[in-house]
Amino acid sequence: MMNGNKTDFPIPVGRTAVGDAAFSFHCHSEVSCFLTCCHKVEMYLYPYDVLRLKNRLGLHSAEFMRRHTRIAEGSHSYFPAVMLNMSDQEGYPCPFLKKNGCSVYRDRPSSCRTYPLERAVEKLPGQKELKIHYFMTHHSYCKGHQQERCYTILQWERDQFLGEYNLMNDLWAEVDAFFATNPWQGEGRAGERQQLAFMVCYNIDEFRTYCFRRNLLSGFFLSKEERRRIKRDDAELLKFGFNWLQFILGDRRTLLPR
Ligand code: SF4
Ligand code: SF4
Repeated sequence: MMNGNKTDFPIPVGRTAVGDAAFSFHCHSEVSCFLTCCHKVEMYLYPYDVLRLKNRLGLHSAEFMRRHTRIAEGSHSYFPAVMLNMSDQEGYPCPFLKKNGCSVYRDRPSSCRTYPLERAVEKLPGQKELKIHYFMTHHSYCKGHQQERCYTILQWERDQFLGEYNLMNDLWAEVDAFFATNPWQGEGRAGERQQLAFMVCYNIDEFRTYCFRRNLLSGFFLSKEERRRIKRDDAELLKFGFNWLQFILGDRRTLLPR
């Protein structure tokens, strides 16, 4: 059961808004469409998706990007987006799809976790908190909608372990909104600043080397515990990188300089 809640946020074509009420959906290996949706997918990857996948596959982030992704137009013209390449085998399956299903299931990208829903964030003027919107997709091939099990949004987020992904994607949404302000100081696309930003967002292993060779952490007030976490955890390094980019490119007080 869907709840068409009222919102001024534009509803994407072919979607319906989902509110607090439960919706019916269940995806399992017995549905006749099992794994149909893992073929020929036009899927955006966000920085945290790349981080999880490259760690799962044991690849350097540069190698992951080279093997599995392509650059695409983003939501604005000031920073590119990244998409997952499908394999060129018959039916164009996702490269991580194996006979029995998804081989990277625990680290599958945000879009796969969220499906059949889509999530959008809205920044309201003067408000710190982001407003979250969920929309229901309606693909005729997907039989999960006809199953009896029901979820609320909250239950779906828990069931799909979306918490960490949503948190990181919300931070990314702030950074991408900042990039949309054209902070490249006249350098244009793919200038030095934008390349640096791209490295931080999508090549965390390279950024790790860059960060520690230049001793970036020492320029800011960070607790011992924060430094320790940044040193050993890619996600914490990515959070630091997001703050650092806004600090150096936009003079935002996202970090406290020494
Ligand atoms: S098409 Fe829908 S029900 Fe079928 S496998 Fe994909 S998500 Fe599950
Ligand atoms: S990552 Fe996994 S769930 Fe997502 S499309 Fe690929 S095989 Fe399917």
